[in-house]
Amino acid sequence: MAFQAVCRKFVEEQVTPLVAEAEEKQRFPTSLWRRMGDAGLLGLGFPEEVGGAGGDLLSVAILSEELAKASGGIAITPLVSSYMAAPHLYRFGRPDQMREYLAPVLTGHKVAAIAVTEPDAGSDVAGITLRATPEGDGYLLRGTKLFITNGGIADIIVVAAKTAGGDGHHSITTFIVEAGQPGFSVGRPLRKMGWHSSDTRELIFDDCFVGANRVLGEVNRGFYQIMQAFQEERVVLAAMGVGLAEACIEASVAYARHRKAFGRPISSLQAIRHSLAHMRTQTEAARLLVYQAAVLADAGADAAQATAMAKLFAAQVANDVADRSVQVFGGAGFLEESPVAMHYRDARVLRIGGGTDEIQLEILAKLMNL
Ligand SMILES: Cc1cc2nc3c(=O)[nH]c(=O)nc-3n(C[C@H](O)[C@H](O)[C@H](O)COP(=O)(O)OP(=O)(O)OC[C@H]3O[C@@H](n4cnc5c(N)ncnc54)[C@H](O)[C@@H]3O)c2cc1C
Repeated sequence: MAFQAVCRKFVEEQVTPLVAEAEEKQRFPTSLWRRMGDAGLLGLGFPEEVGGAGGDLLSVAILSEELAKASGGIAITPLVSSYMAAPHLYRFGRPDQMREYLAPVLTGHKVAAIAVTEPDAGSDVAGITLRATPEGDGYLLRGTKLFITNGGIADIIVVAAKTAGGDGHHSITTFIVEAGQPGFSVGRPLRKMGWHSSDTRELIFDDCFVGANRVLGEVNRGFYQIMQAFQEERVVLAAMGVGLAEACIEASVAYARHRKAFGRPISSLQAIRHSLAHMRTQTEAARLLVYQAAVLADAGADAAQATAMAKLFAAQVANDVADRSVQVFGGAGFLEESPVAMHYRDARVLRIGGGTDEIQLEILAKLMNL
């Protein structure tokens, strides 16, 4: 596919050379924002009228796959900004909000984050407690968010807050908060087992005032807005799993061809050959599920089941393939300098972020009317 070739070339030339230093320094290479923006890779799936680059969710999935082949930590950073936070601004923003907040994100001039999870509410989105209390011509936000990707580097944060009492399904509203505004602060970067170059923080809102003009979408409809945007987020994360698995296969095949044991390449040993063949089959199956989910969403069809299956399966495949690839490498796979150790660490979060395995299974069981 021509677009895949474009993404692959960009990643090989512009991203891969930066991975080792980004992992070491645990920092996203900021030069990539403008390079990705200039290449149109931050505005896929958004129409040109709002500053986007055209394309669709399938193209976002292909980009996610290619980025994650290089590094999950680097990949997740722009993917959260453009394809997990920005869709809220596009789907629910007013024209003036899109001009001011969305357009600069799609070109890499500004970075966005999406803040839903709290210390006491993750899977249970309706259970969030960060409060938005009416005050003058706006609201005062008070509470804490946790695990927020890009939290310390974002210019624009989409924040979910409770705007009414009672059931969270009908009392959540999303707001646009700008970094640096009074009453808003960020905690120290959280140290993680993987995604080392991605910035993850606690966000603190201490009577942070947001004007009514920064309400995003409808008051008290935020829960449903978040659920809608989750579809795209899950396709992206699933595609990252496919890319990670693909990288592990490529590295393992190359290693197995050259590594000798008992006088012959380990690729000639049935245990290794079959494991590699299994990895290839699993990854291809995951890829097809991801593409199916993206294509259905692009066609405007109901993609709920396909998306949950893709997220569940691709995340598990990524973990299994990464584990198998470390096994193919033997002791060398346990060294940080091996090409698969980073992927092994990065794979784990894919079964948690954007809705855990168990939440995907719950969605699927409900769709089976169970
Ligand atoms: C690196 C990283 C980056 C993240 N980035 C962001 C971000 O940018 N923005 C954001 O808002 N959030 C972000 N998150 C948060 C992430 O979405 C949550 O961690 C995830 O949704 C799970 O929530 P939790 O951690 O509170 O786990 P919990 O909800 O407490 O779940 C704990 C366990 O219970 C299980 N469980 C919970 N409910 C059910 C149920 N109904 N049925 C069966 N099992 C259940 C879960 O599957 C899990 O195994 C990030 C997390 C990580 C680790």
